Amino acid sequence: MSNQVLSVTDHRRDRAGLVYVYPVVSRRAGGVSVGINLNVNKACNWACVYCQVEGLSRGGPPPVDLDRLEQELQGFLQQLLRGDYMQQHVAEDCRRLADIAFSGDGEPTSAPEFSQAVARVAAVLERLGLRGNLPVRLITNGSFVHRPEVREGLAALAALGGEVWFKVDRADPEGMLEVNKSRQTSGRVLEHLRGCAALAPTWVQTCWFARNGLEPDEAARCAYLDLIGRAGDLLRGIHLYGLARPSQQPEAGELARIPEEAMRAWGERIERETGVRVSVSP
Ligand code: SF4
Repeated sequence: MSNQVLSVTDHRRDRAGLVYVYPVVSRRAGGVSVGINLNVNKACNWACVYCQVEGLSRGGPPPVDLDRLEQELQGFLQQLLRGDYMQQHVAEDCRRLADIAFSGDGEPTSAPEFSQAVARVAAVLERLGLRGNLPVRLITNGSFVHRPEVREGLAALAALGGEVWFKVDRADPEGMLEVNKSRQTSGRVLEHLRGCAALAPTWVQTCWFARNGLEPDEAARCAYLDLIGRAGDLLRGIHLYGLARPSQQPEAGELARIPEEAMRAWGERIERETGVRVSVSP
């Protein structure tokens, strides 16, 4: 394990020398977020143009070694809480354990062991006396919500007091294909979003950016507002964010941040037209 200090821009997954567990100093979470990466082969069923995973490929993860995941999580949390990991590796103003997040180098719910992984996290939190005191989040593209084992995992996450951040970047089929390389209909996304929100507290997370100098057009905006409006009664809110870190995908050079003022104006419009609360991180 190196003794370098982690920064908010360093999101490499191998920081603690572990396979499934990695620390991230997260602006979003306001401290050290303990990530769980089930997609150790960097394979995802989507290929978002802004994805920060270097060497991303299409596909799903290899079988998850649940015993190892549990041991790594317990050992790492103990180091964070009782060892000197924070003093050695984390800047003083971020020495706070913020959350545990199923995130990583691909879609977590594509792992058939996802619900068992949630159960292992619950067991560790229980043993360390953290259950109910440390938020557990799932960062997901939501495309496997129809699978019974994923629904089981979502219910288990909710029982832990956890929440879901569900990715909806665009809602028009062309936009989803262009941004996420995913062939979906807005009806299908709505079904997944509502299904997810009925099982666990759910936030939408939306990455909003310009491509080749063009911001999403009015048709794309209307499709997005329509979809959110239809799920709005079930949602906790929306995290609207810009390009926080550089894309590692071939399209990186085509993407650009949208000025803060325009991002805030779009956030206000979403709130006004859908009634859903929006937090903006330009
Ligand atoms: S869903 Fe997440 S991991 Fe998969 S390609 Fe998109 S940003 Fe990358």
